Amino acid sequence: MGQAFRPSTLVPRSFVVDDVSHESGATQIKVRPANGTSACPLCGRRSERVHSRYQRCLADLPLAGQPVRLMVDARRFYCDAVSCHQRIFTERFDEGVLAPWARRTARLDDIVHHLGLALGGRPAAGFARRLMLPVSNDTLLRVVRKRVNGQHTPPPAVIGVDDWAWRRNQRYGTIICDLERRKTIALLPDREPATLEAWLADQPQIDIVARDRGGGYALAVAKALPKAIQVADRWHLLENASQAFLDAVRKSMRLIRVAIGAATISPDLLTAAERLQYEGYLRREEASASILSLAKEGISIKEIVRRTGLSRSLVRRVLRGQRSDVFRVRESSLEPYLSWLDAQWTAGTRNGTELWRQLKRQSPSGKIMMDCRAF
Ligand SMILES: [Zn+2]
Repeated sequence: MGQAFRPSTLVPRSFVVDDVSHESGATQIKVRPANGTSACPLCGRRSERVHSRYQRCLADLPLAGQPVRLMVDARRFYCDAVSCHQRIFTERFDEGVLAPWARRTARLDDIVHHLGLALGGRPAAGFARRLMLPVSNDTLLRVVRKRVNGQHTPPPAVIGVDDWAWRRNQRYGTIICDLERRKTIALLPDREPATLEAWLADQPQIDIVARDRGGGYALAVAKALPKAIQVADRWHLLENASQAFLDAVRKSMRLIRVAIGAATISPDLLTAAERLQYEGYLRREEASASILSLAKEGISIKEIVRRTGLSRSLVRRVLRGQRSDVFRVRESSLEPYLSWLDAQWTAGTRNGTELWRQLKRQSPSGKIMMDCRAF
């Protein structure tokens, strides 16, 4: 046989239900504490000497689609400990049931916190209304913030510093992360070394700083925390290495093109679109060549810009060997057989259909795109 239903199972533990009523669309439950004593918040000694009573009105979880108000018959106690300065104190409950001064039970506060985290202020407030949880969006945000601030985290010892864009190419700030907890801990308004230095000066416990490879942040760290170890972070190392590799390849592009045989292109074999691209490529090559020859004559960048009408940044890029593009045609399926075809052609086999049949037999998939331009 099941146990008889007790109204006290509906309310948080440590309360006993005295009365239940319905009033203007809400359920009102009158409760009193089950415990006869309460601990003094200052000295911790339990007291049973009641000074007076007062009523606390709390919001609790909804019941049968109706919001619930708990009317708690709470007490004030005397503290009888001789050395304690607290003469009278208000009744304290278990933190997991009801926090001092709270206007919601801990179990409702928990749900409000999770709603705030999942949906944010305004959407969570709308959803909470439908769930019969009476909270405003401001309350939701307050609950989330209060719990974050309430968590005690030790000051950071290993941090990462980098710049970030408030607005790309216009306004930058500085982001500081606690690398051990993988959390952003500060956003500074600009990326000036002095701003970072001021922030770091208040954090003498920091041992390691991961940063970019520029000089600004390095200087700020060296000034504010001379004993801290500075580390170039992995992202910046890879980024710099990749940039250096691309620069090296670009500078040798002319030689690479010759080596892979891409330097000789027959415009007759190009499609119309490829020909347009090729003409553009030739124009760029011509411009680069004239810049280089002018520079060789000892003419200044300013003068080269004036004479050629090209932009200053373009002229500088060419002179630094940073502008060298490649013209590539799409590789056709015929490419691997070109030397064989060439040999056949020289040996006198010049029947296109016959060559195609032989090619089909050689191709592993038996398929080959017919490129008439080859014949
Ligand atoms: Zn006390």
